Amino acid sequence: MPQDKKERAFFSFEVFPPKKDMPVDTIYKTLDELTDLKPDFISVTCGAGGAGGAGDRTVEIADAIKNKYHREGVAHLPCINLERAQVVDMLGKLRAKNVNKILALRGDKTPNVEPKHDFRYAAELISFIRKETGDEFEIFAACYPEGHIEAKDLDTDIEYLRQKVAAGANRLISQLFFDNKYFYDFKEKARKAGINAPIEAGIMPVTNKKQIERMVMLCGATLPRKFQRMLAKYENRPEALRDAGIAFAVDQITDLLSNGAEGIHLYTMNNPYIARKISEAIGELL
Ligand code: FAD
Repeated sequence: MPQDKKERAFFSFEVFPPKKDMPVDTIYKTLDELTDLKPDFISVTCGAGGAGGAGDRTVEIADAIKNKYHREGVAHLPCINLERAQVVDMLGKLRAKNVNKILALRGDKTPNVEPKHDFRYAAELISFIRKETGDEFEIFAACYPEGHIEAKDLDTDIEYLRQKVAAGANRLISQLFFDNKYFYDFKEKARKAGINAPIEAGIMPVTNKKQIERMVMLCGATLPRKFQRMLAKYENRPEALRDAGIAFAVDQITDLLSNGAEGIHLYTMNNPYIARKISEAIGELL
């Protein structure tokens, strides 16, 4: 199986495809700069709307990361609106491009779209990929330090996470969080539950207040007091907020790496300037 083993912590980025009305190659300028920072991999998001348009862009960008830039690309694959045949089709497209890393996700319900019933949860997608392709793909799955927003409680969510790893997920990437305490508590519980897959900590540097409020609304992350004070103080000074956001993320990452985090996954928001500043600040810590 194409699985990476490393002594040092992983450092990876996430990008999203350009909007449908933009040419896909507008992402290349961002990738030029991100790949120059030599991340272990770059993952590419995929709208849960369906594998048609959105999935094709994800494959195209993951292909460029792998075959044009010669870095590892991870294709996100949300399954809630897919039928088995569409997943088989996606696996074939990834195989044809030699992209052998997938982040297997359920995805969120799209308004006014009745979900397909082939895959109800990410664990079912992971089992299916393993059944169809054996060990051909390295499979990543999502995890939630503060619990998934729909979960009854964190312990229940961790039990379902255990099922994703049992189904064949090799590695985990966490939802963003701003208070490391949640990550440490979560990781301890996950290990106690017998989940031994490496867990990368998802870090989102703040670039603007609106963006962070939207993310927090979607995923329910707790905003610590010092973070809220930072937002309030710099909300009307974009460059100051950007610099404060970078400093906050570097501080968070330093603490995580000092405490043995196995990897850092940076939600770059397609902003290479921020990724570079953070990479430069933590390069030696990795
Ligand atoms: P699951 O693991 O299936 O869990 C979903 C919910 O169901 C949880 O509350 C869980 O506790 C519960 N559950 C699981 N199994 C069972 C069961 N057997 N019985 C009852 N309840 C169960 N979304 C996108 O659309 N595109 C992306 O590219 C994307 N990238 C992401 C990247 C990362 C790193 C993360 C953390 C999230 C990403 N998401 C993306 C968001 C993700 O799709 C949503 O958070 C979604 O709501 C859950 O997906 P999941 O794969 O974690 O679901």
